[in-house]
Amino acid sequence: IQWFPGHMAKARREVAEKLKLVDIVFEIVDARLPASSRNPMLDQLIQQKPRIVLLNKGDLADPAETKKWQQYFIEQGYSALTINANQGKGINKIVPEAKRILDARRTRPQIKGMKPRAIRAMCLGVPNVGKSTLLNRLAGKNMARTGNTPGVTKGQQWLKFGKELELLDTPGILWPKFDDQAIGKKLALTGAIKDHVLHMDDLAIFGLDFFRAYYPEALTERYQLSGEELLLDTPDLLMLITEKRGYKDDYDRGSRMIIQDIRDGRLGRYTLDRLDEEEWQDEAAVD
Ligand code: GDP
Repeated sequence: IQWFPGHMAKARREVAEKLKLVDIVFEIVDARLPASSRNPMLDQLIQQKPRIVLLNKGDLADPAETKKWQQYFIEQGYSALTINANQGKGINKIVPEAKRILDARRTRPQIKGMKPRAIRAMCLGVPNVGKSTLLNRLAGKNMARTGNTPGVTKGQQWLKFGKELELLDTPGILWPKFDDQAIGKKLALTGAIKDHVLHMDDLAIFGLDFFRAYYPEALTERYQLSGEELLLDTPDLLMLITEKRGYKDDYDRGSRMIIQDIRDGRLGRYTLDRLDEEEWQDEAAVD
């Protein structure tokens, strides 16, 4: 999606309408980008609604970093679970956690002497974090609609999961943070942003810098680099890898190959947003 101010205003209005209908929000983020894949004004929009942060795509992220991020969100006062919506891993914990939160807050609607009614919830997140996949998984069959078109919400429908949970059948879709160059590159590197927004060689160099800083052995293994080669200036490293692949001086092709490797996990699991190491991000931001 291209986000224009008009779309953003409309998406915000739609989310605000949906929020009125629910007891709790499932905020979905990409576990590789637990900060960069969050909408910048979400806190303002959600305010006091209880929320579970779902770190999705846990299978692609660095498990040690995911643990730290989960802890971070808990310290921020949210509930946080790591899931893999593709394979349905961890999703059975969502409903019990929602119940626990609402019971603790005593905000679960209840008529005296009767069982509390089903929890009403909605999925919310920026494009590509896995909202549709999660809805489909939870529904067990293809009940959820796919696609990301802000502004097409017609009548609200609920997906019912036994007597426990009612989930809005369309997720709330908000825009990512794109004012910051480094965030844009991180989103592009995971495939969350379309390619034409950025130059492929810039993005490949950004990726190479990142992997060299955090997962150097993934680079040396995948592209059969010596320790010395790994220390080359990044543009030279990009040239070398391109040549090694037999693409001669087609650096655009080499760049695309590297980016695709990163997106598809062929360089292993990684987490681009780092909680405890800010230097690399800062360098990248001023570049
Ligand atoms: P949405 O835009 O938030 O609705 O995202 P989608 O549900 O369309 O998912 C975007 C892409 O991420 C799709 O290609 C999914 O197959 C993929 N995806 C979603 N969840 C996971 C996951 O847990 N692991 C992996 N590896 N891929 C996932």
